[in-house]
Amino acid sequence: MVVKREEIQKLFREAADKGIAVPHFNHSDFWDMSFIVEAAEEQGAPVIIACLPKVIDAIGIEKLGTVAKVVMEKSSIPIVYHLDHCHSVDTCLKAVDHGYNSVMIDAADLPLEENIKAVKKVVDYAHAKGVHVEAEIGQIKSAGEEGYTVESELAALEDAKRLAEETGVDALAVSIGSEHGFYQHTPKLDYALLEKIHGVIRVPLVLHGGSGIPREMVRKAIQKGIRKVNVGTQIRYTYIKTLGETIQNMGAGTHTADIMEAVKIPVKETLKEWIVTCRGEANNGWK
Ligand SMILES: [Zn+2]
Repeated sequence: MVVKREEIQKLFREAADKGIAVPHFNHSDFWDMSFIVEAAEEQGAPVIIACLPKVIDAIGIEKLGTVAKVVMEKSSIPIVYHLDHCHSVDTCLKAVDHGYNSVMIDAADLPLEENIKAVKKVVDYAHAKGVHVEAEIGQIKSAGEEGYTVESELAALEDAKRLAEETGVDALAVSIGSEHGFYQHTPKLDYALLEKIHGVIRVPLVLHGGSGIPREMVRKAIQKGIRKVNVGTQIRYTYIKTLGETIQNMGAGTHTADIMEAVKIPVKETLKEWIVTCRGEANNGWK
């Protein structure tokens, strides 16, 4: 089913009531989009399918939005199609017009005033059309970079509060020490900071860089207020690695559809593990 902003807000309210998080999985093409839908339907769990701007550059926003709309209409569970880490206000607005029901305007590398201004522009346009908006506060590193996130890059409580209040944004990605990609060191999350932000901000908080974080740390972050967990690298890695191995085993003459039947097994396993991590072992989820 296609969900509008109000229903997405409701999903996050339910997640808060249950002390769980909504899983967000990045996709790169139409095959992995299908794997995500199958895994989520089999688990009976709502899911956010996310698309980076580079996927839009490669495939085209109209094609992606049109296919995602059909996927959402046909699915038995709520599916959100989300534009992830978009630095361009214009592309966010385009996504709103092309079937995305959630967009992230990532202006966190700009000074706070400019971040607020960019988020406000997207919020004003998106909300009028029933589209959910995520913003970011603090700098979320790439795991390939040296060292841990330094204090000045973490989400500042006052900045997060101002951005949330002045923009009316629907979800907020907070830098609490997580990193995108596979970590070069043991991840460190600032749970105390997360608790503080969760204590003063009403909008759902988002944990980026889920791939390399041990599950028990993700669970703890959910207990402390995270309502959405973003996973990209691990899905893509499993997909591409298995694709390479399957081509090796079955031969490059094998039909793509047969190759993908084999590839989807480990990818769906990985997705299901994350769905379970987000909703907790003891919780039966959304049913
Ligand atoms: Zn991210």
